[in-house]
Amino acid sequence: MNSGLFLFDTKDRELKEVCANNGFEVRIYCCGPTVYRDAHVGNLRTFLLGDLISRTLAFTGIDSKLIQNITDVGHMGEDFEGNEVGEDKILAQSKSQAREPFEIAREYEAHFHSDLAALNIIPAAAYPRASETIELMQNLIAELIATDHAYVGGDGSLYFSAKSFPEYGELSGNRLDSLVPGHRYDYVDDGAKRFHADWALWKAAGDRTEMVWQSPWGLGFPGWHIECSAMSLHFLEGHVDLHLGGIDLRFPHHENERAQSNAGVGYEAVDSWVHGEHLLFEGRKMSKSAGNVILLSDVVAKGLDPMALRLCFLENRYRSQMDLTWDSLKAADSTLSRWRQRIREWSSQGEIDESFISDFSLGSVTDIQKDLDIPRALQQLRKLEKDPYFTGATKAACFTKLDEIYGLELGRPKETKKELSSELIELLGERSTARAAKDFARSDKLRNQLSTLGISVKDSPTGQNWEWR
Ligand code: AMP
Ligand code: ZN
Repeated sequence: MNSGLFLFDTKDRELKEVCANNGFEVRIYCCGPTVYRDAHVGNLRTFLLGDLISRTLAFTGIDSKLIQNITDVGHMGEDFEGNEVGEDKILAQSKSQAREPFEIAREYEAHFHSDLAALNIIPAAAYPRASETIELMQNLIAELIATDHAYVGGDGSLYFSAKSFPEYGELSGNRLDSLVPGHRYDYVDDGAKRFHADWALWKAAGDRTEMVWQSPWGLGFPGWHIECSAMSLHFLEGHVDLHLGGIDLRFPHHENERAQSNAGVGYEAVDSWVHGEHLLFEGRKMSKSAGNVILLSDVVAKGLDPMALRLCFLENRYRSQMDLTWDSLKAADSTLSRWRQRIREWSSQGEIDESFISDFSLGSVTDIQKDLDIPRALQQLRKLEKDPYFTGATKAACFTKLDEIYGLELGRPKETKKELSSELIELLGERSTARAAKDFARSDKLRNQLSTLGISVKDSPTGQNWEWR
């Protein structure tokens, strides 16, 4: 089933139409967070991509199913960019904080959900945790061994044989014959692997005693890449229409994932690979050492609406590197207040011109369907704001209609979310997670708790909505 939405496919290097291979829903997988720290605003820009795509599809009557994993084991620290060696990121954090690794993982996972809720990102259909899907990974690895794509290395770990997958390199352009040992991929020169570009599927525990599982190949833990292959294939029933992630994941993570998934199922498992470009902050790459890692809580602490961050993201194409600044956040914050104020005033002014609203919506959607050209669609909205011809009621209806895609809560009553405390944001996030996990007892309990704090929560097919009581 075709959707009319065209996105740039990294592998084929062209715009490709998003299609529902099973004829009824577009199956989307987005690489989720590694929960050893809070997501920064760059991570959130990438996580928003799935939401914008799902909302655009829903706007045109097409269902989608989004799965986003939680990496709570197996993602190793990087010695240098892209190089998968070093210690498990969560275990490293556990040592430095002297806390249980899973306690840390669950804490940051909860923060991740509250950030998504604050950004009005519709929850995924499921958020499988790597640590709870080990059997899926082991089954896929067993299949790869049976088909001669995997082997036991000199150190007892299991490796994928890159040379066994002739299409290796098609996604990133990094062909095997041009890969130099030690450069930008999983490389440990200890003789364990047969070929320098092979990577670990299952790592032998060695001295490690935490976050390890029994397997047919001994005690150990999964590699990061196999997690996404196993979870995407399982939760999306063997086929991914659209695979999302930040551009840094193109290689080696997605190149390796493609090799594993295709080798495991015997066909092309993913139709389109779509990557979001990176976010800079005040002109620089966000990094701990530069001290410019910005979190959503930093934005809220400055008295800015989280939706201001969302609007900034919408004003930039997902495939362009974007420079976020405090000035752009402040400008977006005041644009939002102005739009909300105008919509409140406009609503009672004149008749609604239904045929203009549908033409306007169609024009905006046509822009958005061209590789998510939301900036162009927003320009039309700004033009309409100033237009002297159409009635206020018509303008208000256009703004709120398109907000089904933008998700900026433009119809929100005056000055509400600015007053949301971080505790309330967290509770809303927890409830959204409980509901996504079908833990209705907990989600009802949280709804009551929020109600006593003055917030009324309602559920809709597109997720949870709230308002001040
Ligand atoms: P991580 O939690 O580090 O595994 O990253 C989660 C997601 O955020 C991945 O899809 C990354 O590609 C993406 N990401 C990391 N840094 C940035 C950035 N500066 N801008 C946009 N996306 C990013
Ligand atoms: Zn992934």
